[in-house]
Amino acid sequence: MSIDSFVSSVLEERKDQGLFRTLKTLEGAQDRIVSFNGKKLINFCSNNYLGLANDPRLKQAAIKAVEAFGTSSAASRLTCGSFRLHKELEEKIAKFKHSLSALVFNSGYVANLGLISSLIQKHGVIFSDRLNHASIVDAIILSRAHIVRYNHNDMSQLQDLLEKHKDAKQKLIVTDTVFSMDGDLADLHRIVNLAEKYHASVMVDEAHATGVLGPNGGGLVEELGLSDKIDIQMGTLSKALGSFGAFVCADENLVQYLINASRPFIYTTSLPAAVLAASIKAIEIIQKEPQQRQRLWGNIRFIKQGLADMGLGPLNSSSAIIPILTKENELTMEFSQRLFDRGIFIQGIRPPTVPKDQARLRLTVIASHTREDLERALAAIKKTAKELRLI
Ligand code: PMP
Repeated sequence: MSIDSFVSSVLEERKDQGLFRTLKTLEGAQDRIVSFNGKKLINFCSNNYLGLANDPRLKQAAIKAVEAFGTSSAASRLTCGSFRLHKELEEKIAKFKHSLSALVFNSGYVANLGLISSLIQKHGVIFSDRLNHASIVDAIILSRAHIVRYNHNDMSQLQDLLEKHKDAKQKLIVTDTVFSMDGDLADLHRIVNLAEKYHASVMVDEAHATGVLGPNGGGLVEELGLSDKIDIQMGTLSKALGSFGAFVCADENLVQYLINASRPFIYTTSLPAAVLAASIKAIEIIQKEPQQRQRLWGNIRFIKQGLADMGLGPLNSSSAIIPILTKENELTMEFSQRLFDRGIFIQGIRPPTVPKDQARLRLTVIASHTREDLERALAAIKKTAKELRLI
């Protein structure tokens, strides 16, 4: 089959299954209110949980960094693309995550690839929650390790699988801490206990927990006091931190290893100064201003209560990600479109991002949503869910 006919047949198939995707283009900043084609909407689909993506203090820090360091690093970290700001950011992250050392990667996707693919080799076994982020799945494929997937948060199955593979030389348990499409949490205490029992290492992806959970915004690991029990923490700078890029926290030895062996770290141009400076500023703000996190949690509780009251449960979410399960692909997109027409932006999520028959609206709450925003969203959701006979 030629490439042309292959591409056309895939696109046709996606359309037939209600899975065709298109891009919606924002006209201004990522914020509580966004604008598409001149239409203003209340935004319930970004990961900008603390509203920092358009914060004047981050913007100012980025502008100052551009003036001092220019627009591009124009080199990889190991050649001449390591700036003082990389070091400053890595030191800040290590403290923020109660870790010994940290290394910045260019994105969360790349961090997962760079970490997992270089740590576990062909004869190792990686135990991965079935709902882990796609970048973890791809990283495991790249590592060529043996993949063992356990059902979502099923600790007795994880135990059985660890028992089955107990003689493997390298064993790594990998999990999101906040699951990106469900908003629920990994059972980290039990994972850590199982890892100790079976001499496995644990790596967590704190992309949606960083800045949101923990007394200082350090994530679920901080909240549960497990910093010294988790071998590797990965997280992103592009969600609650309102910047871009990602990090890996571990001991000094492991960080040195990644600098020497992680191809997605080595063979790429490093992050530019503007991004580094915005990330540094974001961590300072998060540490100094717990009130933003408290506001976020007030908003999360309000929206969850409103959805539960209208019968749109069960809501297993314990984070800013609150899915409304609609199951069917076309119904999901119709729900999303009708909300869009009513000024509420909540993106529909379909397979393969979620399992088959598990399509949903992925509603995310941010700290800067006002009570009126939340009430308007709940009213629009209720009206639309009734029209579509979901409640
Ligand atoms: N891990 C998780 C759990 C994510 O949700 C995402 C992205 N949404 C990533 C990793 C990838 O991060 P990035 O967007 O920085 O590539």
